[in-house]
Amino acid sequence: MQVYTASTYSTFTSHESYTAAALNGRFLQPLSLSCGSLRFVSSSFKAADLTIERNPVVKPKPDPSTLVFGKQFSDHMLNISWSAAGGWEAPQIKPFQNLSLHPASSALHYSIELFEGMKAFRGVDNHIRLFRPMLNMERMYRSTERSCLPLFDKVELIKCINKLIEVDQEWVPYSTDASLYIRPTFIGTEPSLGVSRTGHSLLFVIIGPVGPYFATGGFSPVSLLADPRYVRAWRGGVGEYKMGGNYGPTIAVQSEAAKQGCQQVLWLYGENEEITEVGTMNLFIYWTTEKGEKELVTPPLDGVILPGVTRQSLLDLAREWGDFKVTERRVLMKELIDALEDGRILEVFGSGTACVVCPVGSLLYRGQTYQIPTMKNGPDLAKRFHKELTDIQYGRTPKDWAPVIV
Ligand SMILES: *Cc1c(COP(=O)(O)O)cnc(C)c1O
Repeated sequence: MQVYTASTYSTFTSHESYTAAALNGRFLQPLSLSCGSLRFVSSSFKAADLTIERNPVVKPKPDPSTLVFGKQFSDHMLNISWSAAGGWEAPQIKPFQNLSLHPASSALHYSIELFEGMKAFRGVDNHIRLFRPMLNMERMYRSTERSCLPLFDKVELIKCINKLIEVDQEWVPYSTDASLYIRPTFIGTEPSLGVSRTGHSLLFVIIGPVGPYFATGGFSPVSLLADPRYVRAWRGGVGEYKMGGNYGPTIAVQSEAAKQGCQQVLWLYGENEEITEVGTMNLFIYWTTEKGEKELVTPPLDGVILPGVTRQSLLDLAREWGDFKVTERRVLMKELIDALEDGRILEVFGSGTACVVCPVGSLLYRGQTYQIPTMKNGPDLAKRFHKELTDIQYGRTPKDWAPVIV
């Protein structure tokens, strides 16, 4: 059993950076904006400087079968402060507690806020694993650059997160249906109303146990509302970054979907109604092309798509299998509707850390409900992806995607 040490990090990091770099080169344009030189003068915090203040009170751990997403938190959190004048402070693990913020803090007024979402899993061997964590660190770094927040060393941050998980390891559920959700967050705390680069910021990480996405155990398909009047992200905007400002405005659209009897929103973009994402998940279509070939298709990372770690993993697995064509390209609503009418759709599903894959069962579009035969197809492909990824996450299949941290 290999447990992570400083030296295994470098191998792991270079493997994952390679993937991220390949991704970058192909789709993600390097950031051409610059926030000035200030942020480069402060070098990163270091995990070696981490201090730990233990919580004298430990909360009882909830029963994994009763968990509600995002409502329970562990006993500790990680805080790392930065200021333009003093640079990064030493990282601190301390008792989980409220923040104290100046009311003018830039996060509260101008959404200078970004986050990540990742999980730790207690494997069948009782070791705790992360899933491709450097892809989350890379993505967080890109969001940080775009937000003009101070840069940091991605490996130092993951080492601090690993330490937090180690301190709260009893919070990682003893269940292969549950996991520990990890929420790294980075906010501007500049106490000033000027719309300008923040001179104060706080990077913090909170963690908490989460249950299975599908409470019933089996897959249950979701219904979607596709309404071209609402747009999640646009080219030239910030949809490809996990910034808080992208999510608040979607809640009203989500409520509209619920009012019309749908569970999630299918986000369309542009005059041609490109299909982009579903809720806060990436979207995959498995179909038979007009030429009669089986193909898995997902929209490309061309500015309006959040580069999901699960998305990347499904693409990597499918390409490794080589059992069908795998394509990243723009897909128009008309193509989906035509394929549905021709009976060429096999499966449609969302992908994300919360559910791994989430089958789509129906679509409400321009007043008409279309049934999507995902469940009729097994759903063979969605199940195969789900099994393959969860086997890796819970240590049933060894793979360097899931480093052991405890
Ligand atoms: C987080 C997120 C995803 C999924 O990303 P994962 O890394 O796979 O969890 C997809 N779309 C949006 C809009 C997201 O915020």
